[in-house]
Amino acid sequence: MIETKPRILLIYTGGTIGMVKDFETGALRAFDFETLLDKIPELQLLDCFIETISFENPIDSSNMNPKYWVQLAEIIESQYNKVDGFVILHGSDTMSYSASALSFMLENLAKPVIFTGSQLPIGDLRTDAKENLITSIQVAALQKEGSPLIKEVCLYFEYKLYRGNRTTKINAEHFEAFDSLNYPDLAESGVHLKVNEDYLFKPDLNKPLKVHKTLDHNIALIKLFPGITMGVLKSIFSTPNLKAVIIETYGAGNCTTETWFIDMLKAYILKGIHVVNITQCSGGSVMMGHYETSNALKNIGVISGKDITTEAAISKLMYVLGQKNSVKSLKTIYETSLRGEIS
Ligand code: ASP
Repeated sequence: MIETKPRILLIYTGGTIGMVKDFETGALRAFDFETLLDKIPELQLLDCFIETISFENPIDSSNMNPKYWVQLAEIIESQYNKVDGFVILHGSDTMSYSASALSFMLENLAKPVIFTGSQLPIGDLRTDAKENLITSIQVAALQKEGSPLIKEVCLYFEYKLYRGNRTTKINAEHFEAFDSLNYPDLAESGVHLKVNEDYLFKPDLNKPLKVHKTLDHNIALIKLFPGITMGVLKSIFSTPNLKAVIIETYGAGNCTTETWFIDMLKAYILKGIHVVNITQCSGGSVMMGHYETSNALKNIGVISGKDITTEAAISKLMYVLGQKNSVKSLKTIYETSLRGEIS
């Protein structure tokens, strides 16, 4: 008889989930992945085959960078035809950035890539790691008519499955550390695992997986505040090789209408620097032109980030810049939903 249990690849990058306390300093540091699996014998009870792979030197996710994203994409690419789904163990600090980045890098993804981690180490008595890990594997193993039910990059944390590129880390203390303010939860784990199938991403299954590994990180992120000076803005905009700037504006995409500010942005846009407008609110969307205080931005060619998260705005920009599009098409592409990251 042919064995039909799904195969899941568990990729360990580091993070609290696999950390131990250093006896001398008391600080948390990464430990050996093999020990992590020993700590959860329950994994053997799951109805799937689990294979594992680990970063050679696991990292605290505060050290995450685009090179590691490429490493993750390459692991997924090399194992894509051998397994049915992926679970990535990752520190929670930058998990939303990585989940967003991978969503853009993995075009036409037709298998689940589930990011998870924990607030307390796996060996801790009150750990949240076990539930997060076990349910993430179960979610990755879900099948419908012989193929994976979930076909996108997700983040699972504290009983909820989210679209990865819609998430933000909202709490450094609570087990409920993430939220998805602008998109509904994809699944909830209670007595039953309830999947909201209507909200799942539906890729074009006729297209093969395309892995994008060129990310251009010559970008900047500016959060506006009342009183921000021209000097600060000018020094950021004159960074060598800078290609694009994301500005976190107020409310529905509003900013000061002072002439120096608008004239300065206009001059940099004319020089070829892309400017993206996203909101510093956790929920809701940029609507340029809705208020007088955003009309000027629209008129000078600022790109609308709509209801994108800051995390997704950053990796989408790196990805789109890496594709080497013309100035005009970059604006159109950026304002289009590529992986369900905007409404
Ligand atoms: N500093 C840790 C990290 O992001 C926190 C965590 O794992 O939750 O790697």
